[in-house]
Amino acid sequence: MPDHPRSIDEVFDVFPNAPITHDNLDIYLGRLERRLLVKRCRACDRYHEPPRSFCPDCLSGDVAAAPVSGAGRVVLFSRVHTGPAGFGIDYAAGHPIAVVELREQPGLRLSGQFVTPDGRDARLDERVELVWIDRADGPTPAFVPSSEEV
Ligand SMILES: [Zn+2]
Repeated sequence: MPDHPRSIDEVFDVFPNAPITHDNLDIYLGRLERRLLVKRCRACDRYHEPPRSFCPDCLSGDVAAAPVSGAGRVVLFSRVHTGPAGFGIDYAAGHPIAVVELREQPGLRLSGQFVTPDGRDARLDERVELVWIDRADGPTPAFVPSSEEV
């Protein structure tokens, strides 16, 4: 487990509505410090998402949260029109969600809000990078178009 100066109590204070479990607690500890973490198996070195207490590839229980870049390519984009109320979420306009395959590993996918100044849709295979949004319910990872040269 990464060395976090933050406490477990702080996780529950900052993310009161999050479904925090033994398997994802360290992921939320990372969020407090704006560190994007994904579970990684120490036996086979593969990342997996969603977080589990064992590796879905080799079934080892030796898994830990590891940092990832948050950079990757859009594999799915959708506008969500219903869901739980949340700070900054506009379901009437359609909340823009991208599923991104992270560059760390083929098939490793995370979903998050897609953010652009003009609110446009993401394009399939568009390169994106990580940004953190400050929400009332805690720092939230999101994706913006990549600033890297293609
Ligand atoms: Zn494994």
